[in-house]
Amino acid sequence: MDGPPENDFCSICHANFHLPSQANCSHWYCSNCILQVWNHGPALQPCKCPLCRRPITLLIPSESTSRQLDNAEVSEILQRIQSYNRVFGERSEGLVQRVQDLPFLLRRLLRDIMDPQRSIPLVIRARVYLAVK
Ligand SMILES: [Zn+2]
Ligand SMILES: [Zn+2]
Repeated sequence: MDGPPENDFCSICHANFHLPSQANCSHWYCSNCILQVWNHGPALQPCKCPLCRRPITLLIPSESTSRQLDNAEVSEILQRIQSYNRVFGERSEGLVQRVQDLPFLLRRLLRDIMDPQRSIPLVIRARVYLAVK
């Protein structure tokens, strides 16, 4: 299947899918919606599927989304999905790749650091992430 079921809608924004992506649990969301869900959770953990609560370690953009790479909005979203997949995917890409994805993570970490309730453990978590994973 290269797209969400017809007549279905995104269960996050309750509208028609906009640039849909399928999670590894097989649920479809707008790419932006599911990235927003992750944005509201801990930066160093994969977000949980809002429908089945399974951790999302892979997001696969629909074929029609992938074909619109020349569209600036789409290519930005696709890049964020690729970074997400590399950070949370099960196969390790090695340290070089992880360093390349750091700007993506740092933007998230910065936002968490602005949130005083989360700032202290985050420094430790960032170290653990770089050292262990
Ligand atoms: Zn949506
Ligand atoms: Zn799911």
